Amino acid sequence: MKRGPMKGSSQDNAGRRHSTLASKVRFILRPSSFILFMALLAFVVQFTRSSGAQTRPRRSGAHSVSAPVFTPADRRLVERAIDETCAERIRDPFGSMPIDEMQARPSLPVAHPDAQAGLRRAERVLPTTRRLVAATIVQLAKEYDLYDTAVARARINAATARVEAVRRVRPDVDSRDNASVLLREPRTIEFGTIFLAGLRSDEAMISVLAHELTHIASGQADALRPLFRAIGRRAANRTGSRIQGQRAEELGCDLVGVLSARQFIRETPSWEPLPRRLARALEHNCVDDDASDEDHLSPRNTIRALYALDVGLAGEVLTDSNLGSLLNLRGADTHWLGVLTVAIGPS
Ligand SMILES: [Zn+2]
Repeated sequence: MKRGPMKGSSQDNAGRRHSTLASKVRFILRPSSFILFMALLAFVVQFTRSSGAQTRPRRSGAHSVSAPVFTPADRRLVERAIDETCAERIRDPFGSMPIDEMQARPSLPVAHPDAQAGLRRAERVLPTTRRLVAATIVQLAKEYDLYDTAVARARINAATARVEAVRRVRPDVDSRDNASVLLREPRTIEFGTIFLAGLRSDEAMISVLAHELTHIASGQADALRPLFRAIGRRAANRTGSRIQGQRAEELGCDLVGVLSARQFIRETPSWEPLPRRLARALEHNCVDDDASDEDHLSPRNTIRALYALDVGLAGEVLTDSNLGSLLNLRGADTHWLGVLTVAIGPS
């Protein structure tokens, strides 16, 4: 793969996917009957409705009037979503390697083709990820009622400015299956070569890069600590896990990671099923050896907490995979309807 043209070309890439999509829809619809058109239209309408319901902001927190309810049915949905995520990892040729498997690997030289492919991917998606992370942090701050005073907004805006300043991904053999940032050098993300090689999709890479960018956003000022605390509290209530201090920060970074990946998926329609693409943002946590430490929930409890925090996400991963590829057109709803109309002709 050539490095030059790939770097920073995510916009072009998205545009290309878009036009491929349009031509496929035309191909399907030209010979089609009115019945097919109505069936597809029903899909779009139904999906637009259900996705609206899923993405309705669930407000809660100390200041909220109505805290969202997490029901036993939600709990069951979360457990099914975890199983589906890790089953999808095995089916998907671009599924991520779980971190316990990464840990068992011998070190990987920077020049290894898989590490180089991962590095190119990371560099290519970094600009998009910066933008997605900044938007996601603002969105979460609003959802958790931490954006309603001038002081709070200034804090969040300073945090997102730090994200915009990150410029570099540095591959590192000794970091192995880890990525990290040094807050005194906040323009660089250090990325273990095993980790670079083990994340085989843009969705997975964006999720992990976004995690690191969120640490940088919080920075030495700990600007996102109130947000992390609120996220940790809600997740603890819903899962029964202990989530305080550094654990809350790590979970908050993971939440920004998966939400950034979800937004990326919405912006880059593809024929790959939505559940498959979403699962990639979490699959590195599908471990057999599910150990926790003082600073981190165990990997599988991390998936559990993330789905508990955003039950809509769990629902999206459980979408039937045949529908899922159609539903992944969400980002292009209007465009798609336009294409349908053109293909069928004015009625
Ligand atoms: Zn972290």
